Amino acid sequence: MISKPEILIVGGGVAGLSLATRLGKSMGKHGKARITLIDKSFSHVWKPMLHCFASGTMQNENDRINFISQASGHNFEFWPGEVVSIDRVRQEVVLSPLCAADGTVVLESRTIKYDTIVIAIGSCANDFGTPGVRENCLSIDNLVEANAFNEKFRMELLRAFANNSELDIAIVGGGATGTQLAAELHKALEIVGPFNLHAFGKPPPKLRVTLLQSGPRILPAFPESVSAAAQTELERIGVTVRTSARVAGANATGFTLKDGTRVSAKLRVWAAGVKAPEVTTTYGGLALNNTGQILVKANLSAIGDEHIFALGDCSYIDGDPMPATAQVAQQQARHLARYLPAWIEKGQKIPPCVFHNKGAIVALGKYNGWAALPGGTVWGGGFSHGLSARIAHLLLYRQHQMELYGFYRGLMSCFSDWVDTFIRPSIRLD
Ligand SMILES: Cc1cc2nc3c(=O)[nH]c(=O)nc-3n(C[C@H](O)[C@H](O)[C@H](O)COP(=O)(O)OP(=O)(O)OC[C@H]3O[C@@H](n4cnc5c(N)ncnc54)[C@H](O)[C@@H]3O)c2cc1C
Repeated sequence: MISKPEILIVGGGVAGLSLATRLGKSMGKHGKARITLIDKSFSHVWKPMLHCFASGTMQNENDRINFISQASGHNFEFWPGEVVSIDRVRQEVVLSPLCAADGTVVLESRTIKYDTIVIAIGSCANDFGTPGVRENCLSIDNLVEANAFNEKFRMELLRAFANNSELDIAIVGGGATGTQLAAELHKALEIVGPFNLHAFGKPPPKLRVTLLQSGPRILPAFPESVSAAAQTELERIGVTVRTSARVAGANATGFTLKDGTRVSAKLRVWAAGVKAPEVTTTYGGLALNNTGQILVKANLSAIGDEHIFALGDCSYIDGDPMPATAQVAQQQARHLARYLPAWIEKGQKIPPCVFHNKGAIVALGKYNGWAALPGGTVWGGGFSHGLSARIAHLLLYRQHQMELYGFYRGLMSCFSDWVDTFIRPSIRLD
């Protein structure tokens, strides 16, 4: 009996879960391949919304897609675990032991064979080795970190309520993550304000958010007009924006800038730079760039190993890099989902993946939003236009949900979220 080709997908994020779901439909369902998704967590979240989880304006339960349930309904298998190394000669991966919260081992280290492996393990913020950042700053690169930030944010907010003091937060990185987080934190405080915290008998505390950007303007990936409008909007709601502010170090009370000035902050967030998770250095000696991203050809196969593919934030197309965005991750997943079956079944070549830039959207919480369309057109800003850009930002998420759930279940999920707004508080309070 001829065994089925084994396809492993490592990482169930924007790219990996979309690919597993699509391949499950085209190959898994018809018994043409065994598709296995591996992820170090048990559920998927739409990463561009992590700043909402961090500020508590989005509740985790409704917005997570469980891998086990997704796999069983879409003809692929799911293995929980972190891929810590790849043996390219034996064509197998090693998963670290899976431990319970108390440290006991639930699943021993495991080895899984593959014929084809697709690596989609995403990225994390890059502190560029800045002293003190690792020990003193939080980041929001995944749901665990976003939840940890939220826990601290809620506790500090409560402390500020009780003491009638200010809460100061500094965010390093004026890209989409930092900028959107700054606005979302203000939205969170506005929602909390009207709740009856009688026990304290005091008005809501003042939130002081400082956004530090090393370059001359925030949102450098957007046209200058959007950067300027977003800065004005942030300043209007009370965020202090400091551009050309390069951080030299961090400690438990704040940041020191290169020019020697101090920015004090109770909570410190590092949301600058992008690099691949450090684990890529243990992936069988694959060629990497200087931020650890796996070097791939234009057809997304790893340089030097045609059985390995990499896509999304953890990959870097040699000579023609694409930005680390959800849009790129989605398009690359669709490309592989389209061409991988014929490559596996008939050896047909996979063509280069061509990126079709559909523009970028940034949403400053409930306050404003902009979309930069290809060709330089900017749309958004102001009340009604800002609203349409914010709705477009939300629609991207809904579109992703429908892609994974299917149209009707996706629609029901939207409906259920809407119903939820009448039942739950619109902010996470516990
Ligand atoms: C707060 C925030 C806001 C953003 N806003 C936007 C935006 O507005 N627009 C936009 O286009 N992009 C935005 N981005 C970027 C976007 O989210 C990423 O480009 C996109 O998620 C990349 O998709 P991916 O599939 O490569 O990785 P991810 O979606 O990050 O998925 C990686 C997956 O791999 C898993 N994993 C990691 N390491 C291992 C391992 N060793 N073994 C097993 N599994 C592993 C993780 O658990 C995760 O499920 C934002 C990012 C953040 C953090």
